[in-house]
Amino acid sequence: MLHENLSVTSDGRLLFAGRDLRSLADKYGTALYLMDEVHIRRMCRTYVAAMKKAFGESARPLYAGKACAFKRLYRIMMEEKMGIDVVSVGEIYTAKSAGFDLADAYFHSNNKTDEDILFAMENGVGYFVIDNTEEVVAISHLAGEKGICQKILLRITPGIDPHTFEEVATGKVDSKFGSAIETGQAMEITRLALNLPHLDLAGFHCHVGSQVFDSDVFNRSARVMMEFIRSVREETGYLARELDLGGGYGVRYVESDPVYSLENCILEVGETLSAVCRELSLPMPQIRMEPGRSIVAASGLTLYTVGTVKKIPGYKNYVSVNGGMADNPRYALYRSEYTVLLPEKMKEACDFSCSVVGCCCESGDILQENVSLPSSVKRGDLLAVLTTGAYNYSMASHYNRIPNLPVVMLRDGEDYVAVRRETPEDLIRCDL
Ligand SMILES: *Cc1c(COP(=O)(O)O)cnc(C)c1O
Repeated sequence: MLHENLSVTSDGRLLFAGRDLRSLADKYGTALYLMDEVHIRRMCRTYVAAMKKAFGESARPLYAGKACAFKRLYRIMMEEKMGIDVVSVGEIYTAKSAGFDLADAYFHSNNKTDEDILFAMENGVGYFVIDNTEEVVAISHLAGEKGICQKILLRITPGIDPHTFEEVATGKVDSKFGSAIETGQAMEITRLALNLPHLDLAGFHCHVGSQVFDSDVFNRSARVMMEFIRSVREETGYLARELDLGGGYGVRYVESDPVYSLENCILEVGETLSAVCRELSLPMPQIRMEPGRSIVAASGLTLYTVGTVKKIPGYKNYVSVNGGMADNPRYALYRSEYTVLLPEKMKEACDFSCSVVGCCCESGDILQENVSLPSSVKRGDLLAVLTTGAYNYSMASHYNRIPNLPVVMLRDGEDYVAVRRETPEDLIRCDL
């Protein structure tokens, strides 16, 4: 099947992380996010091992918490010796509450307010990844006030188009993120950072996009960044210690997505970097990568219960579930593809074409269009959307005042709640 943690029994029932879904639905209710902890840990270990092999012992993956963040997940990251990439006060607070050592946190965002910066400094966030010149000035100033020397990376735009969706491409010259090499702004911000007090420039960062399957994208950005590091050395004498290549490795959502070996891709970037370093006579920097989606996406499955099945003769069919854009806005946002199926009817032919929609008062509340389900689909059936571990829980909203779903973790035959289901009382907690 799509991922190694999915299988089908001889009587046509889907197993996720080895578990039958009906008993989990009975125990926790639907709609429900399930996460396979063993798979999350396996992905972390793949990154840690492959990066050490490719780039040496100092290399380290940073989990991009924007893909999915809650306390238990940060504790797993800590146990797996991952660093983290945080993008907001909320993520910093969550990681800290989980006991994560924030010295291993890298603080991103293209617009950090003074309050954000101070919060991060007061909580000992190790690194700031700086987006633009105003931010260098602000961080230098606030570090001076705090009497600290703040470690920073500069976010550089390498000018690479990963040919994925426009919405998730971030490495192009005209991106809202970073300072471009092509326009000279990357060199300019580097000089500024080297000249301002209270800053320790550790190196450079880039991130070219998301859902990238083409390993050449990473090879090219590694080369462009090393060439930039060489130019900086020639012009200023400064040699970068760290190079952060960002996240973005693709994940299979549907059978037609390519199969590839993450480990081989990382090893390939390692070979490219070693060759470029030799060519440019530079030492290999300490390499960071920031995987989000590829760590958690395939670890997740969302389980719903089918409600209304509406047939509009001559037009289309709708299957409604007890969730939707409030727990997974990605189809509404980007027309993201997902595999949708009835986990208890895996042996039945899928000859009923329909749109699977949610329960929000909004025509755009669609989980997936052009889905084929068994024609016996009816109220009460379980419906599963696969590969929902990334950018689902973290993008959930309270639209229509729908409480957020719980996250139930699965581990070696055990199940436990990592995030409890919200109640209507939770929804009015901040209402005065
Ligand atoms: C989104 C993002 C990531 C993670 O991307 P994935 O595609 O989830 O691996 C890493 N770094 C930065 C700066 C990002 O914006």
